[in-house]
Amino acid sequence: MNYDNNNIFARIIRGELPCIKVYEDADTLAFMDIMPQMPGHLLVLPKAPAVTLYQLPDDALLSCMQTIKKVGKALQTAMAVEGSTLVQHNGSYAGQSVPHVHFHIIPGPLKGLKPH
Ligand code: 5GP
Repeated sequence: MNYDNNNIFARIIRGELPCIKVYEDADTLAFMDIMPQMPGHLLVLPKAPAVTLYQLPDDALLSCMQTIKKVGKALQTAMAVEGSTLVQHNGSYAGQSVPHVHFHIIPGPLKGLKPH
């Protein structure tokens, strides 16, 4: 799938659409999900244009992981939970609805999934 420069997250990155921003650096952005699965549900994305993880250059992926570590840890503290869940969809078949690669950080367990 070709990258669409006008997808919602590209427009948020460019500042054309609003978001509740929790973290930003030169390569990544983190903001609150507009329809949270749980209170505190965050999204982390690279600024680099890529639809899925498989199109993302390794340096941009590393930047995302560094941001995930920072904001995920802070989120657990802020929400007073001892764990969090990282989710990432690749392609509409897998449930991806916005065609700019992104990671969900959900405080605690994902709804519907029980710990083993
Ligand atoms: P996906 O299903 O693609 O993995 O997840 C996309 C996520 O983006 C969904 O959880 C959805 O609620 C969120 N989302 C969609 N549009 C917007 C928006 O305009 N702003 C924000 N903050 N989140 C959005």
